[in-house]
Amino acid sequence: MTICKECGKEISTKADKCPYCGVVIKKQLTTAQIGYGCLMILIIIVVIACTVCFCK
Ligand SMILES: [Zn+2]
Repeated sequence: MTICKECGKEISTKADKCPYCGVVIKKQLTTAQIGYGCLMILIIIVVIACTVCFCK
């Protein structure tokens, strides 16, 4: 559960919009999600680097 910044009511963290006032919820990225994102970027960089190396 999270609290709507607009109306202060408790709403589901899975909800995209507040069911009470209709404000769009901005989802905060968790540390795990940021770590996963960084990992994916690293993998993409490695794949691109490998592709460039093998092409030569
Ligand atoms: Zn609200």
